[in-house]
Amino acid sequence: MSIDFSLTPEIEEIRGRVRAFIDDVVKPTEARIQSEGLEHNDRDAYLHALLDMRKQAYDAGLWLPHMPAEWGGMGLGHVELAMVQAEAAKSYYGPWVLNCQAPDEGNMHTLLHWATDEQKQKYLKPLCDGRAWSCFAMTEPEVAGSDPTLIRTHAYQDGEEWVINGHKWFISNAHRANFAILIARTEDDPDLPQAANTAFLVDIPSEGWTEVRQIETMHGSTGHSEILIEDLRVHESQMLGGRGQGHLLGQYRLGPARLAHCMRWIAQAETALDMMVDRSLNRFAHGSLLAEKQGIQWMIADSTMELYQAKLMVLHAAYRIDNGLEFKSEVSMAKHFVANMLNRVIDRSIQVHGALGYSTDTPLAHMYQHARWARFADGADEVHQMRIAQRTIAAYKDSGSTASATGDLPI
Ligand SMILES: Cc1cc2nc3c(=O)[nH]c(=O)nc-3n(C[C@H](O)[C@H](O)[C@H](O)COP(=O)(O)OP(=O)(O)OC[C@H]3O[C@@H](n4cnc5c(N)ncnc54)[C@H](O)[C@@H]3O)c2cc1C
Repeated sequence: MSIDFSLTPEIEEIRGRVRAFIDDVVKPTEARIQSEGLEHNDRDAYLHALLDMRKQAYDAGLWLPHMPAEWGGMGLGHVELAMVQAEAAKSYYGPWVLNCQAPDEGNMHTLLHWATDEQKQKYLKPLCDGRAWSCFAMTEPEVAGSDPTLIRTHAYQDGEEWVINGHKWFISNAHRANFAILIARTEDDPDLPQAANTAFLVDIPSEGWTEVRQIETMHGSTGHSEILIEDLRVHESQMLGGRGQGHLLGQYRLGPARLAHCMRWIAQAETALDMMVDRSLNRFAHGSLLAEKQGIQWMIADSTMELYQAKLMVLHAAYRIDNGLEFKSEVSMAKHFVANMLNRVIDRSIQVHGALGYSTDTPLAHMYQHARWARFADGADEVHQMRIAQRTIAAYKDSGSTASATGDLPI
């Protein structure tokens, strides 16, 4: 088995172009949006700046890196996508500008795999064209989001329609979405608890779908909504995948989507480490630069080692997906590790920056607020640990060795 993460000249060229685009177009526009306060002071200029970046990305062929060419995408595999996502996420708007942002990116994968041709034309095409927004509505306030077999939102059939009632929250993008992939319980007595739920495509707005509020979070009110669903009627042709396949569809969606989060988190952690080193080379205290102090070097070294581990884990999990190998455990381990690494590295970078790191004069404070949810959304740490342990125990029981559970590598 060869281990070679070098890129083909074509992919290296794409990576270079993405990096240059982020440096030359996205970061300067972001700086202008922030310095002129466009988001709050001049909404038209703000939207114009955003859409102009998207148009430039589209014209430059840096559009939909995760989608196949027939859907207007760059047709990259997951290893290649890791390079692009990790470049794009060095800026705040980068993934959105390239149209590979959560949750649309995961929803595009889901529609590509599960939707009928008609559904693809109606929902996937506008998403790919950048003309629509989407959301994925699964979590409910009343029951543990970690266990989708508990979902209470319920759908019953009435002729050619399904009637849905329930309550969802933390639905990202819902306030601006044109449609939702909604998970509801349709089977009261399934053979398996995992076969109780079904996915439906819901147009927004629809009678019976009400946005109660955008939830205020520790990083502000940035588009995670609480939704009340009351006698919402959808035609049976709006079912996505088969009856009882909602759990399967959710799991299918979450595999690559979790890894895509990891790719973006690696970019954020690398930015934090770059800033940590830069600050340590420029701040003088107690007779020397911070970079010359062992306590600071330990923080730099720990962050460097952890970032290296994170990159290897993500590349390996991506490689397994690309090669049709079982990837659940590797994605689970990567998601857990990268989410925790991200929190640690940003925290250390804030420490090295002192009061400046705590201020909002650098992006670190904002990054820290966002990083916190990484440890429980898309699978809480403890749930991933539970699954990882189950697979490790099963591997040992099956073969007398845990080796296959630790990445199934040749060492
Ligand atoms: C920023 C953000 C965006 C989100 N976007 C979406 C979205 O677009 N769509 C959507 O449907 N949802 C979304 N969510 C919700 C997210 O998926 C849930 O928060 C997540 O699934 C956890 O569910 P919960 O919050 O109900 O926590 P719970 O399930 O109540 O879990 C709480 C804690 O209990 C512990 N725990 C749970 N199970 C176990 C176990 N088996 N063993 C040990 N400990 C355990 C863990 O510590 C866990 O953190 C989002 C959340 C956030 C914060």
